[in-house]
Amino acid sequence: WTEGTLEDAENSLAELAALAETAGSQVLDGLVQRRSRPDPSTFIGRGKVGELRDAVVTSGADTVIADGELSPSQLRSLEQEIKVKVIDRTALILDIFAQHAKSREGKAQVELAQLQYLMPRLRGWGEALSRQAGGSAGGSGGGVGLRGPGETKLETDRRRIRTKIARLRREIAQMSTARDTKRHNRHRHLVPSVAIAGYTNAGKSSLLNRLTGAGVLVEDALFATLDPTTRRAQTSDGRHYTLSDTVGFVRHLPHQLVEAFRSTLEEVTASDLIVHVIDGSHPDPQGQVKAVREVLGDIGADEVREILVVNKMDAIDADMVLELRAEWPDAVFVSAHSGAGIDKLRLVIEQELPQPAVEMRVVVP
Ligand code: GDP
Repeated sequence: WTEGTLEDAENSLAELAALAETAGSQVLDGLVQRRSRPDPSTFIGRGKVGELRDAVVTSGADTVIADGELSPSQLRSLEQEIKVKVIDRTALILDIFAQHAKSREGKAQVELAQLQYLMPRLRGWGEALSRQAGGSAGGSGGGVGLRGPGETKLETDRRRIRTKIARLRREIAQMSTARDTKRHNRHRHLVPSVAIAGYTNAGKSSLLNRLTGAGVLVEDALFATLDPTTRRAQTSDGRHYTLSDTVGFVRHLPHQLVEAFRSTLEEVTASDLIVHVIDGSHPDPQGQVKAVREVLGDIGADEVREILVVNKMDAIDADMVLELRAEWPDAVFVSAHSGAGIDKLRLVIEQELPQPAVEMRVVVP
């Protein structure tokens, strides 16, 4: 489910498939439906449910991943209809973030996002349970006898989750204070900071490696980068600056994640310069730029000066280069792989960095 054209929907679906593969799934089939709005009960329309059921049976799929955020009841109805597990885009993205988080802070942030996603879904389950139990007099099926213990358990679960959420928030706040102190020290030493932002898989880690020689993990998978890595770099005239790799942006980044990762994303907001990396070989680079700018706006980083960098030059043909140059005339074209354009990029970064303030000491006699 996306607003926009059929092409947007297909791009979004292709990306969902790539996400699912990143999570370790094998993708068997894809279905697109045109609708003005999701069906309130099953997300996709009635007819499409039948088609989906057939596709599941034919392909032998054990999971359906919906491109959108389904309400708890939509998930349940759809599962009942097609008899396999249904998850939505948000759950998938949270799962991938959970697999890839490495630092203590990253892990805590993902866990917080997952619990926030889970909370309303717990309620959904509880409501269904009490409706089921209350509705059937003497009843058949799973409702009988479940009501009391079910609700008690639900309450305990909820309380436990709330406590955990509060604890995680505290921990994350402490960790981000530690990072603020580091950031503050950098500012005190007048070291300008450059944040590398961009859509997931655009080549941020590769570019950071190219620019600084840092050994950062590069993966051909969405979301290799979750935890910010900061490296030192130097301009040709000997000024130091820091370069940080940031969390990968993705279309429809779940809002729970934006909230949980706010402190990490704030690194970007507090930076002096954003190097916004674009994957030039992607079918829809404009869509990616738009998605990244939305998140940047969301975290208040849209005021920070930005250099656009079109990466993967080695993988685009000449016509496409022309087209992209017309779209972004000020962008620097590079290939993190071959190293083409990297020296130019270094120069542009140098020019855009804030000039060092002249330190003045007034000695009062
Ligand atoms: P990140 O998620 O933005 O940090 O992206 P990575 O640096 O992990 O790169 C994602 C994928 O793109 C990896 O498979 C890289 O090898 C590939 N990649 C990065 N830069 C280039 C490039 O200049 N050319 C090509 N062809 N592939 C690249």
